[in-house]
Amino acid sequence: MSKNSITQAIKEAAALIKKHQKIALVCHTNPDADTLGSALGLRAALVKLNKIADVLCDSPLSGGIVFLPECHLMNSSISDRYTLVIAVDCSDIDRLGKYASLLKNTASLAIDHHRSHIKFSSVTVLDPDAAATAELIYLLVCALGDNLLDATSAMQLYLGLVTDTGCFGFSSVTSRTHYVASELMKYGLDKAHEYIYKLFNMITLPKFKLTAEVMSHAKFFYDDRVAIGCFSQNDFAKYGLDITATEGFVNKLLNVDKVDLAFAITETAKNAYKVSVRSKNPYSAARCAESFGGGGHVNAAGCKLYGPLEEVIDSLLNASADELGVL
Ligand code: 5GP
Ligand code: MN
Repeated sequence: MSKNSITQAIKEAAALIKKHQKIALVCHTNPDADTLGSALGLRAALVKLNKIADVLCDSPLSGGIVFLPECHLMNSSISDRYTLVIAVDCSDIDRLGKYASLLKNTASLAIDHHRSHIKFSSVTVLDPDAAATAELIYLLVCALGDNLLDATSAMQLYLGLVTDTGCFGFSSVTSRTHYVASELMKYGLDKAHEYIYKLFNMITLPKFKLTAEVMSHAKFFYDDRVAIGCFSQNDFAKYGLDITATEGFVNKLLNVDKVDLAFAITETAKNAYKVSVRSKNPYSAARCAESFGGGGHVNAAGCKLYGPLEEVIDSLLNASADELGVL
């Protein structure tokens, strides 16, 4: 989509929203601060327009996002009579989990920035050049009217931006990202650093110990260009943690200077694994994840793999060899 067609799509989305009174805002499963911050920020704007807007997600509230302002509004209220469903930061219909069923016989709008987006809604605002969905939500809120943000909703959107840009450190960051961040800061986000610490940097001692253990067993392949770390169900049981404790780990593997592709493999059930993939340019994490039916962004993607762990690792190494062009 060109810049003009994004502006046009946002106008169309704003016109659609204005026609509806009862709106569901659906986040993707395993929510992060971009999907939830975007949904909560948009919800606040819709409430200012006297609409009923519920934030729904087919996952419990857990991990770092419990520190997102007003996160407890997620799943706090649900109706069976929405006339518009807005999917926020969802790359395909499966990411809505059970709430995909709300799309039947209802107007729908998807706002997303995943290059791998597969269309499922009547109106779509898709901008793969947006660093975060929150960046697009800010533009949408501006198109809906004046004075629709406040300190809380600005913080929610800002934390969405911070999440998906790795604190403005990823190659996806543009001058528009900084423009939106700057506009949001004008609402008085003097506590942003405290939220950033709690959401992204603070870890509990058990998580520190689990991370240290998994890191010490990380394996490196192809002249140390591929890194793999594995979390087992036993590891979680040992430290009294769950899958949310893996947040951020894969980036630490990618930080190793020679590493071009990093994988964090998390056992979710016997012979079932969630794989987080990260890459440095010019290599594509998305291409690796897509070869196993997953998806995501160029440098940050994910997929699910099944079978014994050794076979899962072999499959990932084969995909890595293809991506890196090594034999
Ligand atoms: P993470 O590794 O942080 O869970 O996910 C990184 C990115 O990959 C996110 O943008 C997420 O939407 C995407 N992603 C993670 N797992 C999957 C998956 O199983 N399927 C698809 N299509 N995308 C995924
Ligand atoms: Mn996002």
